Amino acid sequence: MECRQLNVELGALPRESWSDVDLVPPDLSPWRCGNADVPGFITLRGTAPGPHLGVVSLIHGNEFAGAIALDRLLRQGLSPSRGTLTFGFAHLDAFDRFDPARPTASRFIDEDLNRVWDPARLAEADAGGSTELKRAAAMLPMLRRFDRLLDLHSMLFASDSLILTPDGGDGAEFAGAIGLGCAIVSDFGHAAGPRMIDHPHFHGPASACLLEAGPHWHRASVRISENAVLGAMRALDMLDRPDDAPAQRPPPSPRARVIVTITARSHAFAFLHPYRGGTIIPRAGTPIARDGGDEICTPCDDCLLVMPTPHPRPGHTAVRLAAPVPMPG
Ligand SMILES: [Zn+2]
Repeated sequence: MECRQLNVELGALPRESWSDVDLVPPDLSPWRCGNADVPGFITLRGTAPGPHLGVVSLIHGNEFAGAIALDRLLRQGLSPSRGTLTFGFAHLDAFDRFDPARPTASRFIDEDLNRVWDPARLAEADAGGSTELKRAAAMLPMLRRFDRLLDLHSMLFASDSLILTPDGGDGAEFAGAIGLGCAIVSDFGHAAGPRMIDHPHFHGPASACLLEAGPHWHRASVRISENAVLGAMRALDMLDRPDDAPAQRPPPSPRARVIVTITARSHAFAFLHPYRGGTIIPRAGTPIARDGGDEICTPCDDCLLVMPTPHPRPGHTAVRLAAPVPMPG
């Protein structure tokens, strides 16, 4: 037997252990046209100068917890005290296809909107391409105006909240300032293509992070998304409503860096326990899964399991493993 580490990624979608659909898709009709030059994007300006914060939901059409949070805040009349705030509903065409009987089918139409952010591909979108590539190219001029980007997502399988940031940028600092207290995990992206947060615009001075709020269709994911938006505004001194005064400060967010992606090689892949995302395995070399004759072990002490997929198909990502990063300062 060997402890092996591979670097391929994709996802598998077994039905068991999904979260139930407890949320109703929101009515986004007031925001579809938008008020900026990109449909689905609403820009609000404060009375004083300041940074431009962009918050984007619905990069994946079936992940509408973040869209519910943005819709709710817009209907409440939220506006920045300074700077500029833009809320975006990215993939309304996929969202419109959501069917609670097939809740994973509307993640995208042609390809994953969060794997198309390669500048060379985006530059060729006018010449043709997928629904998602064209939408990304239409969104790009707006994204280039953002100083900070918070991208709102949720997860299919059981996991604690976490914030993903591209390795090497300032995204982790921004994520920490949001103050959710959940793990902040940096990575080198995905082999299948760059995410929106990986676009070069966010390599500095602009920065970006991606919130995985919790299960796709749970109310808690809406609340965490809303807290993240308000936390980001607070961090940028864009919020002065007294009813939004910060609650007791959470403990500093633990930080980790993805060091290996485990990809299933066979149909026999199985975790040794029903691990929840965010689980930390104390000792390096601890077996966590078997795949045919292979035993898969943790590569480091205090290894954080990033979004394990319970029954991955061969060639698809089973889990990403992250090593702890010392806290700054
Ligand atoms: Zn997503």
